[in-house]
Amino acid sequence: MPELPEIQAHAERLTAGWAGTELAGFRPITFTALKTAVPRPDEAVGRALTGVGRRGKVLLLTFDDVSFAVHLMQGGRLKPDEKQSAKPRGGIARWTFGDGRALLLTEAGTERKAGVWVLAGATEGQPPLDGLGPDADVVAGDPAALAEVLAGHSARIHGVLRDQRVIAGVGRRLANEICHRAKLSPFANAAKLKPDEVAALAAAMASCLDESLTYERSRDDMSSSKERPGEVHHREGETCPVCGDTVRAVEYVRYTVNYCATCQTGGKVLADNTTSKFLK
Ligand SMILES: [Zn+2]
Repeated sequence: MPELPEIQAHAERLTAGWAGTELAGFRPITFTALKTAVPRPDEAVGRALTGVGRRGKVLLLTFDDVSFAVHLMQGGRLKPDEKQSAKPRGGIARWTFGDGRALLLTEAGTERKAGVWVLAGATEGQPPLDGLGPDADVVAGDPAALAEVLAGHSARIHGVLRDQRVIAGVGRRLANEICHRAKLSPFANAAKLKPDEVAALAAAMASCLDESLTYERSRDDMSSSKERPGEVHHREGETCPVCGDTVRAVEYVRYTVNYCATCQTGGKVLADNTTSKFLK
């Protein structure tokens, strides 16, 4: 799933290429594409795109005081629509512009979770942005702010980092990379981290976000998950570039926790006995 750096760089690309262009129309292609009834998307027609922003992992296409919030979820992509065919493959929704160009939201696979919300006025606090924690790049590099956000979340740090209500913008890949860089066990209790551990986490978060954003800004389009920089994510069996140990994995149904035992757990091999007795 694209995370904060991928969405941020994509928002910047879209702003550079499309800001100032007048909206000619919006058409949901699937029944579930449009998640809101009011305001109607047509209220943005005739207005110029102010710019494309981001909150958490959500893109915000703003036309004056009407915004389209676009959640790509796992397999969604928002791209220039060269063909503008009647039934585009994987098509979810299309924005057409006064200059004849169009943007197409597509979703790979069959999950059909990507969607569009039309919002009037200030977007903060409205679905799908309601309940989001601060953006990861706001608390990254700021141990005091991060400590405040993590306080009271007595759960494994890997899961807390991915909880959008706690910190917005971090997903599976960044959670793996941030824990590794901070030399923290992904199973460490977020509420019980010592001050030096929170400081390491804040610094790791900042450098992982910066690296990914720099990489993503160097591209013409959003990277695929395999292309993104990293040291442990989806690298089980490979050599840890920091210490030379082998990168390990704890497998879950929907994601994998990757870590280095030497760097992060004092050599202890993690097994999850809370979800599966077979992983011991
Ligand atoms: Zn290592």
